[in-house]
Amino acid sequence: MTVDNRTEAFDIVISGAGIGALTLANYLAPLGFRILILDRRPAFDPVHRGELVQPLGLSILEELSLLDELKKLPHTVYRSFDFLDEGGRLLMKSSYEAGPSPFHYALAIEPHLMDHLLAKNLSSHAHVVIRHESDFRGFSVDSSGVTATYERGGETWTVLARILVGDDGRHSRVREIAKIPGTAAPYRDSYLGGSLLLPEDLASLPPAIADTSGRYFLGPRSIFFFFSVSDRRRFFLVLLPNRDREKFFAGGTAHVLGRLDRQIPGFAEMATRNGLDDPGRFMELPVWKVDLERWCDDGIVLMGDAAHAMNPHVAQGRNQAMEDARVLAPVLSKALLSAPLVRRESLLPYEKARIPVTRALHRLADEMTHVWNSGNPFVVRLREAAFRGIGRMPALENKIVTTIGGTRIVPLTPWDKLRALFAGLLPG
Ligand SMILES: Cc1cc2nc3c(=O)[nH]c(=O)nc-3n(C[C@H](O)[C@H](O)[C@H](O)COP(=O)(O)OP(=O)(O)OC[C@H]3O[C@@H](n4cnc5c(N)ncnc54)[C@H](O)[C@@H]3O)c2cc1C
Repeated sequence: MTVDNRTEAFDIVISGAGIGALTLANYLAPLGFRILILDRRPAFDPVHRGELVQPLGLSILEELSLLDELKKLPHTVYRSFDFLDEGGRLLMKSSYEAGPSPFHYALAIEPHLMDHLLAKNLSSHAHVVIRHESDFRGFSVDSSGVTATYERGGETWTVLARILVGDDGRHSRVREIAKIPGTAAPYRDSYLGGSLLLPEDLASLPPAIADTSGRYFLGPRSIFFFFSVSDRRRFFLVLLPNRDREKFFAGGTAHVLGRLDRQIPGFAEMATRNGLDDPGRFMELPVWKVDLERWCDDGIVLMGDAAHAMNPHVAQGRNQAMEDARVLAPVLSKALLSAPLVRRESLLPYEKARIPVTRALHRLADEMTHVWNSGNPFVVRLREAAFRGIGRMPALENKIVTTIGGTRIVPLTPWDKLRALFAGLLPG
């Protein structure tokens, strides 16, 4: 509804068109709520990385009747992942078959393809508007609702709404203006990422490159994750210790590519063909942790990375943003039926359900960071033994894939870890 030529009225205004916002709008659109989604990006462009949609995300897509559509897009299905040591010896194969979910796989995809699909599904709802190149600037709240402002085309625009949703990522402006207490900080290490487009003649490729299996190579202070998102597209992430790019490339790019080539033979040549002999083409992907005391206030609510950005060791950020949407949608739709302004107390069921889950994932991710990113030879030996042990103990493997699948968080207990360690130290 247009109030004047610079002011519009909606039920919900969302800052950020991340996966959380798009999923939320897909849940709420059939109920007839008027929703405006603002994003400063010009479009859903590729982010040059692949991401894993875990069983949790798959179940949400199925609930929205979008899973079959998603599977028509380029993707790779993963039934398991291989964890290898620095020399390429298999430590553990973690298989989704061991988990409880009806989805015994994860799906790797380029995230913008999924965003497009969810946005396209909204296009038949005239009361849902996605507005790109729109930079959310600020808001105020009173008993009649929320007044949000954004900039577009060099002009300032106003939206009147009953709730403002912050899905605006780890640097959330909504969170900052609302002065939500908590911590938002980068981890010590980040990643360098890149993508390889393979030639059409896949039969001519080195087998390690043609192979679509997902491989994590873990060495002292080194991680190399190589996986596929389609027949011809591979992605990789490499740990960037201390976020020190200069030190990482100090021996030259050929040295870096040579090291990765020992783990995936053929990598160096394919990377060079894709322009990755230039260090500038390795994209840095910072890793953040956002851990807040509360996620809502009168008139505002946070979701996704704005509320709980987490380390990708748990491969969950996207999936948990979708789960935020699944939990928030019924809470919001009930709250929107009663008052002009959605108040904090009506949003509490969302916060109470979600904060403990994301806190548990933060704890797990911190522990994984401590162990996986370590360069201490003693920790590395114990880590490798624990991986081997988990691979030999189906009950523990079940806990790991259940947790990583996202449907339930069941971290290993200290006793589980001890048992894994002993099992891994025994000859195989
Ligand atoms: C290396 C790496 C690997 C990852 N791998 C996985 C994985 O395998 N599986 C997984 O589930 N997750 C993974 N993640 C995490 C995942 O990418 C994020 O958790 C997820 O994208 C967060 O979604 P979101 O809905 O919070 O929105 P975001 O993706 O954070 O998007 C926020 C949006 O807000 C917009 N915005 C910001 N400020 C404003 C403003 N002022 N006005 C308007 N718009 C604004 C931005 O343009 C952006 O579009 C990974 C992350 C990293 C770093």
